[in-house]
Parts: sequence; structure tokens; C-alpha cells
Amino acid sequence: MNAISQPTVCPRCQCTVRPAQVRTDIWQNDHLYVVEDVPAFICDGCQEQFYDDDVTDALRRLNEDGFLSTVPSREILVPVYSLAGQIKRVRSN
Ligand SMILES: [Zn+2]
Repeated sequence: MNAISQPTVCPRCQCTVRPAQVRTDIWQNDHLYVVEDVPAFICDGCQEQFYDDDVTDALRRLNEDGFLSTVPSREILVPVYSLAGQIKRVRSN
């Protein structure tokens, strides 16, 4: 167990952080990649997520050259919505 790389309090708000498995999405140009089974720490206060150094390294490797050479574990269909024409401006005058 490496206590140094595992934060116990949030560096932003000093609340307790707890270990969790999270999912993260990474955009590269117009391509969206989803990475799941990511070990992280989540702050109970501000909900910020933190990764230890080894996880950060693994994500960086995947991000730099892994998406094209690694077989994804699964694929999902992602609905895309547009706000064009959907924004109702409240006029004050
Ligand atoms: Zn926090």
C-alpha cells in the first residue's frame, strides 16, 4: 500500500476523499473516447476526482498513442443533441 500516492483529504476543499471506480471521457479532435474501470478518489465535498500517479500514467499512455492501437472493451452508441434553436432568452426590457 502506497500511502503517499493516495490522498486522504481534498487539496481543494480539505474534505475527505474516498476511493471509487469512475469513468472518464476524453475528446481528441472530433473523436470521443470513454475509459471505464478507472480507480480514482472522489472528494465528498466538491466532487472533484483525483487519480494517483500510476493511473495518471496509464491514462496518459492511452491518450497519447493507445486509442488507435488498443482494442476497445466495448462500444456504445452516444446520442448527440443540439441547443441550436432551443435557447430561450429572457429579455429584461
Ligand atoms: Zn474537495
